[in-house]
Amino acid sequence: MSGNARDRLKKLHRICRERGIPLTSQRRAVLETLLLRSDHPTADQVFEAVQDQSPRISRRTVYRVLDTLVEFGLIRRVHHPGAIARFDGMIHRHHHLVCIRCNKIVDLESPDLDNISLPKGKPQGFDVCDFSVQFMGMCPKCRKEKKK
Ligand SMILES: [Zn+2]
Ligand SMILES: [Zn+2]
Repeated sequence: MSGNARDRLKKLHRICRERGIPLTSQRRAVLETLLLRSDHPTADQVFEAVQDQSPRISRRTVYRVLDTLVEFGLIRRVHHPGAIARFDGMIHRHHHLVCIRCNKIVDLESPDLDNISLPKGKPQGFDVCDFSVQFMGMCPKCRKEKKK
């Protein structure tokens, strides 16, 4: 496990202690699963993966734990309009390449994009706090399959 992942697990420990809630093995397992993957799984995919470690965990518990981890700022929910929610273990600012055919989401790091300045004031009444750029297109696998 990378140092980054270890730090995040430590942070989970700290937040649970501060809030006086138990660090359940389920919370740990869900966070670990997301930290080990970069494919932005859906809640159901997280549920399937966690089941290997915790066979008795319920789908509802996984959904609830995901919400809690998002609230704690330990993972992110990826907003992809019109599609089912996906979860991201990478919480620093980054961008995404989204395949319009298979819905694959790939991380894209770009210092140039990171430095776009946020709109000044409160445009349309919004207090903007962060952003992420999504590029829509077709992944290599889908491009190949479409040619056939
Ligand atoms: Zn694709
Ligand atoms: Zn991402």
